[in-house]
Amino acid sequence: MKTARPFSFPVSPALAAKLARLGIVRDADLVLHLPLRWEDETRIASIRDLLPGETAQVQATVRDARIAYRPRRTLTLTVEDASGGVLGIRFLNFYPSHVKLFQPGASFRFIGEVRGGFLGLEMVHPRFSKADDDTPLPSGLTPVYPTTAGLGQATLRKAVERALAAPLADTLPADWLDALDLPGFETSIRLLHEPPRDAALAELETRRHPAWRRLAFDELLAQQLSLAAARNARRRQRTQPLPARHTLTRTFLDGLPFALTAAQQRTWSEIAADLAATHPMRRLLQGDVGSGKTVVAALACLQAVENGFQAAFMAPTEILAEQHAKKLAPSFEALGLHCAWISGSQRKSQRSAAWEAVAAGKAEVVFGTHALFQEGGCFSRLGLVVVDEQHRFGVGQRLALVQKGSEPHQLMMSATPIPRTLAMSFFADLDVSVIDALPPGRTPVLTKLVSASRRDDVLARVREACLSGGQAYWVCPLIEESEKLQLQTAEDTFATLTTQLPELRIGLVHGRLKPADKQAVMAAFKAGSLDLLVATTVIEVGVDVPNATLMVIEHAERMGLAQLHQLRGRVGRGSRESICVLLYEAPLSELARARLKIIFESTDGFEIARQDLQLRGPGELLGHRQSGLPMLRFADLERDVDLLEAARDLARRCLAERPAVAAAHVDRWIGHKQALSSI
Ligand code: ADP
Ligand code: MG
Repeated sequence: MKTARPFSFPVSPALAAKLARLGIVRDADLVLHLPLRWEDETRIASIRDLLPGETAQVQATVRDARIAYRPRRTLTLTVEDASGGVLGIRFLNFYPSHVKLFQPGASFRFIGEVRGGFLGLEMVHPRFSKADDDTPLPSGLTPVYPTTAGLGQATLRKAVERALAAPLADTLPADWLDALDLPGFETSIRLLHEPPRDAALAELETRRHPAWRRLAFDELLAQQLSLAAARNARRRQRTQPLPARHTLTRTFLDGLPFALTAAQQRTWSEIAADLAATHPMRRLLQGDVGSGKTVVAALACLQAVENGFQAAFMAPTEILAEQHAKKLAPSFEALGLHCAWISGSQRKSQRSAAWEAVAAGKAEVVFGTHALFQEGGCFSRLGLVVVDEQHRFGVGQRLALVQKGSEPHQLMMSATPIPRTLAMSFFADLDVSVIDALPPGRTPVLTKLVSASRRDDVLARVREACLSGGQAYWVCPLIEESEKLQLQTAEDTFATLTTQLPELRIGLVHGRLKPADKQAVMAAFKAGSLDLLVATTVIEVGVDVPNATLMVIEHAERMGLAQLHQLRGRVGRGSRESICVLLYEAPLSELARARLKIIFESTDGFEIARQDLQLRGPGELLGHRQSGLPMLRFADLERDVDLLEAARDLARRCLAERPAVAAAHVDRWIGHKQALSSI
C-alpha cells in the first residue's frame, strides 16, 4: 500500500518530529506557519552612523580577535567597515571553530543590537554570516518563525520556502473576496512570509495589514464551516424522540410551591420541543445564579421518563451532584420513580448496586458527577443527559459523554454567561435558551467593599448575624499557585476564626476533604447545626442554603469576577436581606479597583460578564478548563468581530451553495487536526 507523502520534498524523520511538535505535518501547515516578526537584513548600515539601542546590520572586516579569560571567558573581535568605523563584537559562548573563523582580514555581516560599551560601540552575540561586499543582500524582510527546541530559523525557513514553491490555490471565489474587500490568499501568504523591503512593517507587526485580515477571516471561516457541518450532521442523526406526554411533568408542576416564571416557561417549552425531535438536542440553558435552571432541567428529565427513557443528571462536584439528588429525588420518588446516585467516593458495593439498577432500567433518573461517564457502567435506555454548570467540565469529559450510548439528547446548563463573540465562535453548534429574569420575591444582595484593615468590624457583624439565628459563609483567599498553600490558608483561617468567634459553631470545607466529610459538613450547615462555614471556592457552584444571609470573601481582589458573582449568589436565596462583604487588601491596583467596582455596582451576571470581557479580553474567559478547544491562531475575537460575523454568514451560504469550496477550505485549515468539536 502506498502511504500518502505528507511533504512534497524530502524531510528527515528527525526534522519531521520537530515540525510535528509545531503542529506541522504537511505542506499546507508550513504554508500557514507564519512569522512572529521580521528582521530587516536588506540594508547595510555604516558603523560611523550607528546609534546605541538600534538594531542594525553591518558589513565589516575582522581586525583583531582575542580571547579574554577575565572576568569570564569571552571572544572579543574588533571589526572595521569601509567607512572606517570600528565596532566591538563580544561572544560569551563560543567554540574553537569560531576562533578559527574570525581570522583577521575575513569579512562578515553582523546583525544585532548596538550598545554603548566600555571602549565604544559594540554588539553582543550578533547573528553573523560570512559575506563580502559582493554578497547579494536579501530583497525582502527576513521572517522569524515560532519554533521549537533544536529547530533553527534557517532550517525552518528553508522548509517553508520549499512548501511555498508550488502555486497556492485560493479556496474562495474572487467575487466573494471582492465583496468582503479581502486580498487573495496567495498574495497574502507570500507577503507575510516574504514581505518586500518597503512593506509596512508596523502594520504587519500589529497584524492590521490586509494580509493578516485575510488569514484571520479564513481561519474563522474554517471554524464556522466545521461547526456548521457538525450541526448539520447532528440534525441528520436519528435519536429517540421524547414528545411531551404531560403525565409526569404536569403532576410535578402542580406539586411545586411556586409557579414557573415566564422565562422558565419559555425555555422549558423550547426544550420540550427539542426533546420531541428525532435528532439529538444540544441545548445550552443559560441563566444567572439563582434563576431557577434546576426546575427546568427536572422537567426535561421527567419528559424523558414519560417516554420510557432514562435521564442522567450530572454535576461537576460531588457536593453539587448530591445536592441535586437530595433536592430532586424526593419529588421524583413521589411520582413513583426510582432514582440512583453514583459517585466516585461511593463504596464499591453501593456503586455496583446502583449501576445494576441503572443497567436493568429500574432506576429512571441517575444523579452523579462525571464519574457517571467514566466508568464501565451502562444504561438500559438513556434518553437525556443533563450537564449542570457546563463550563466547569473539561471538553474531554464532555466528549466522553457524547460517545456513551446512542446519542442521547443533551441539556447543558451554565450560570457563566458566554459573551456573544465566544458563543458565536466556540459554541456555535449549540442552541441556546436564556432564563433572563430571577424568580420574584428575591431581595437583591447588598454588596459592601471593606478594606481588610477593618476586619474586626466584619467579625462583629458575623457574630451578630449568627447569634440572631442567621448563618454565614467565610470564603478564604484564593491561592492559585499551590493547592497545598490553599489548604494551609483554609486551615489557618478556620483556626483563627474559631479563636476569634468562640461562641459560634464553625465548620470548614475545602477541596481536599474526603467527599464523605465534605458532605457531612455541608449537611450540618444546611441543617443549621453550624453557624459559620469557612470555605474555599468549592462552594462557588450551586450550593443552596437559604438561611445563609451573610458572606465574607477575603482578598476579593484576587478572584475573577465570574467567580465572585457565583460566590455571591450563594446568599440572597431566602426572603431576608443578604449581605456580601468583599474584603480587599489595600492598596488596590487600578485594574483591581475597576473590577471590584463592576461587582459592587451590578448584580446581573450577564452585565458583569460583558464588562469583564471588556476589561480582560475574551481569551481568558474560556479558561484553562476549556483548553481542549483548538484556539484561534490569527483571529482575535475582539478585534475581528466584523470578520467573525462575515464568516458566519458566508459559512452558511458556502455549505448550501458551494460544498466543494467548503471542503477545500476546511481541509487547508483544519485537515488532519481534530475537527472543531461540536459539543
Ligand atoms: P440556578 O439557576 O442557580 O441553578 P436554582 O435552580 O438552584 O438556581 O434555583 C434557585 C432557587 O430558586 C431554588 O431554591 C428554587 O427552588 C427557587 N426557584 C426556582 N424557580 C422558582 C420560581 N419560579 N419561583 C420561586 N422560586 C423559584
Ligand atoms: Mg444550579
